[in-house]
Amino acid sequence: MSATPIRFAPAVLAAIRAEAARAYPHEGCGALLGPALGEVHETLPLPNRDEGSPRTRFSVSPRDYMAVESEADSRGVRLLGFWHSHPDHPARPSATDRRYAWEGLLTVVIAVEGGAPRDITVWDLPGPDQPFRQRALVVGNVPTTGALEEVP
Ligand SMILES: [Zn+2]
Repeated sequence: MSATPIRFAPAVLAAIRAEAARAYPHEGCGALLGPALGEVHETLPLPNRDEGSPRTRFSVSPRDYMAVESEADSRGVRLLGFWHSHPDHPARPSATDRRYAWEGLLTVVIAVEGGAPRDITVWDLPGPDQPFRQRALVVGNVPTTGALEEVP
């Protein structure tokens, strides 16, 4: 996998910020969808099912995983990864995040401070036993067809 920037549609970033703020002081989370790994077009909200410690643990159940994958299929796009929020913590993935991360999928983390959305970071796994690698995030309108637009 090349370490090219990951492009997010502005509406996706706005939706992540809004959902992360709404979930505060708990973690919010959602799935990321798009036509190819570097192009995030949509986000789908996911319930945070870790009821034991919803503030500090992010987990996606196998059932949710299957549901978003089939939703992606039905829309003709791919499941690219998941985002979750870190209430009152920096936007860096934790050791727990590493344990539950899927190779080949993006891990996106957003910091929420006192209810206000802050930094958003993007990570992936270069290999099965590798630590997270940070990916550059670019914001751009993603056309549905045709050539990519210039990033402003
Ligand atoms: Zn986390």
